[in-house]
Amino acid sequence: MKSLKTVEPLLNRLLDIQRINSAASVLSWDQETYMPAGGGTARAEQIATLQGIAHRHLVSSDTERLLGTWLDLQTGLPLEQDGELWDESSHSLLREVWRDYSRAKKLPSEFVMRLSRECSLAQQVWAEARTQNNFKSFLPNLRMVLSLKREEAQYLGFEGTSYNALLDVYEPGSTVDGLRPLFAQLKARLVPLLKRIQQSSVQIDDTFLYHAYDQARQLEFGRLVLIAMGYDFEKGRLDLSAHPFTTSFHPTDVRVTTRVYEHDLPSCLFSCIHEGGHGLYDQGLDPTHYGTPLGEAVSLGIHESQSRLWENCVGRSRAFWRFFYPILQATFHHQLRAVDMEQFYAVINRVKPSLIRVEADELTYNLHIMLRFEIEQDLIEGKANPEELPDIWSHKMKEYLGIVPSLDGDGVLQDVHWSMGAFGYFPTYTLGNLYAVQFYEQAKHEIPHIEEEIAAGQLMVLRRWLGHKIHRWGRMFTPDHLAQRVTGVSLNPEPFLRYIERKYGELYQLDKA
Ligand code: ZN
Repeated sequence: MKSLKTVEPLLNRLLDIQRINSAASVLSWDQETYMPAGGGTARAEQIATLQGIAHRHLVSSDTERLLGTWLDLQTGLPLEQDGELWDESSHSLLREVWRDYSRAKKLPSEFVMRLSRECSLAQQVWAEARTQNNFKSFLPNLRMVLSLKREEAQYLGFEGTSYNALLDVYEPGSTVDGLRPLFAQLKARLVPLLKRIQQSSVQIDDTFLYHAYDQARQLEFGRLVLIAMGYDFEKGRLDLSAHPFTTSFHPTDVRVTTRVYEHDLPSCLFSCIHEGGHGLYDQGLDPTHYGTPLGEAVSLGIHESQSRLWENCVGRSRAFWRFFYPILQATFHHQLRAVDMEQFYAVINRVKPSLIRVEADELTYNLHIMLRFEIEQDLIEGKANPEELPDIWSHKMKEYLGIVPSLDGDGVLQDVHWSMGAFGYFPTYTLGNLYAVQFYEQAKHEIPHIEEEIAAGQLMVLRRWLGHKIHRWGRMFTPDHLAQRVTGVSLNPEPFLRYIERKYGELYQLDKA
């Protein structure tokens, strides 16, 4: 069997490219955390320059020559070397390098730069339009980004609909034909469940979550939970940013951020756990594969499964709070002394349709995604007129969630994604929710005492399981293959739906209705 080591010149080439990309990531992280506001324009140029260099390196004739030694440059299939077969990891490595290379090669660099420039412009116009609640002022930029994304889909090529080309960038192997039945299943079970919850006599009052909570103490508690999860502060940081995110420069240097509001306890708390889940994935990647696809996360859907597993399956469970609630109560004695754990559990799991996706509960979150999935697909395929977007949005909000925004900023302008050209990104959030439960059910099956461990504050058992089953593999397997290896089956919405129906059925006493 031939192994990786023999392709060293190619790996060194990839390592150089990754180092440039990591440097660009440091600049982006700094932009979101510490950069003074005045530095924005210069920073955008610095990042674009580094990205341009990385792209040129990847599609250069040097890279092509090195790749051509190991691959058939027409088909992307590995060449047999002296009759010897490649071992599994080399085979995966070459498959994934080919995926990155051939995609980059399909896009003319003139187009890459035009897209980057228009998106950066559109993002600035969007931010202003959102504060002004003025969709019309963003419309020309949206049209421009849309036409560029259609052009990109044509360059990339696709089967079926052009939207598939864009989906595949974020979730390899994912298609509209695969997603549609998934969302239909979710809609058929979640929309009626939401109606039953809204008719339930159980009323959950969450006002105490919005009393005043000292910000430094909130952060301290978030840090404590991150440490318990196994987030390594020798190889990571926690900082503040307007929108929480995770970024990684190397498995030994992973950054998570959070935000902290005095009158919003859940915001800092759950964003720490969520980003911590992302951070554990990035810290758990194999550092010896840094620079190659085997040292990278497999997809956005799988990445999101790690954050949602920790945030929801663990962080909104009774087991977790059995250990952590007394600590939280002691930290905020004045605010929480009269609130028992059951009340706290109910409140952090309260279901309430909201206008804003990022504030949505576990149940309604997927309805927000479904709406975006349907709309962006119609936009890319030219079936929806961008001008009518606010009306289309309201119509679908009414149908799925029963509420309608009165301001564009609370509706069609709330997310940054479309202005950045990130069409095809939204579905990965729902995939993450579904994978999360599927993985967690498997963990409980393989480690029957896992909830007792969690209730004793021992979160490392779960962390190790995830590291062993998912994190260390990088892009060795496709997302679907990974799911099959870990759980025995492909992505399946059933575990998620059963979990949601069980959890909220109990909380809202739906069997008594
Ligand atoms: Zn996330």
